Amino acid sequence: MTARISEILLAGPRGFCAGVERAIDIVELALDVCPPPVYVRREIVHNRLVVDTLHKKGAIFVDELDEVPDDATVIFSAHGIAPSVREEALRRGLRVIDATCPLVTKVHLEAIRYAREGYSIVLIGHEDHDEVIGTLGEAPDRIYVVASAEAAAELEVADPEKVAYLTQTTLSMDDTRDVIDALRRKFPKIVGPSRDDICYATQNRQAAVKRIANDVELLLVIGSANSSNAIRLVEVARTAGTRAHLINDVCDIRPEWLDGVRRIGITAGASTPEVLVSQAVEALNGHSVSVREVHVVEEDVRFALPQELAHMAKERGMTLPARTAMRQSI
Ligand code: SF4
Repeated sequence: MTARISEILLAGPRGFCAGVERAIDIVELALDVCPPPVYVRREIVHNRLVVDTLHKKGAIFVDELDEVPDDATVIFSAHGIAPSVREEALRRGLRVIDATCPLVTKVHLEAIRYAREGYSIVLIGHEDHDEVIGTLGEAPDRIYVVASAEAAAELEVADPEKVAYLTQTTLSMDDTRDVIDALRRKFPKIVGPSRDDICYATQNRQAAVKRIANDVELLLVIGSANSSNAIRLVEVARTAGTRAHLINDVCDIRPEWLDGVRRIGITAGASTPEVLVSQAVEALNGHSVSVREVHVVEEDVRFALPQELAHMAKERGMTLPARTAMRQSI
């Protein structure tokens, strides 16, 4: 597999973001402090290894709340939920812990504010993604989801003079710019957040791919097929003219991809554990090729845990154990 490769470039930053670390910590801590069973609605983050590992530790993953028994504890995923889901949980007396990333919550709050002020809201994103489904639920009568500049150009809204836009947190920065430009042409008075809502982690991982894309002949992006930010990393590399593939793990690497490749880049989506990167490097490194980290920025973002977790611990006479990150245990 490795006969011709002379160098591996590791994009930095890559892998877990602060929202994913927080969500994983929340499930692990809930398993410690809440009476079992602990349910998680949907994948806590879009990565199979993370979900399987938490499942082995005791978390029960379900698609919808009707699979959760009354009075049980349920955790909402990092991607956020529509208000109707929260209302159903409250009505049923479920004990709720919300692992929605604070940067997703910020977009929800912007949607609520614009809806209250009477705006039609264009949500730039992918309509089948959990995050977009959740944000859409904040104002379903006012939000229009568009994914492309073409769709933006054709969009008709109730009052073209009063339009606002928001973005999913995990989009391609370049694609989003094109959509926003198309919206500005169509609705000259459109307003939006001071910066678009694409989160710091998405931006940094895309910037890191751009930095190495022209120095490698092939880029491997490790992440799940349903991970929006991982898919965008593949697109960013291909836009730069570099061959790129999304792989779950090292087993997905096809030997023919490596034909004639001397320098290979590796990155990982924001929900991908670093162990999967290490395994890929190890597999490709059979002939002692050089491995180089290329960092565009250091990240030090960390989000606080939800208060309900501390309250649940207190109820049981416990204090929350120190935050542990699953990335250290797998
Ligand atoms: S990718 Fe961004 S928005 Fe999504 S969980 Fe991570 S930090 Fe939050």
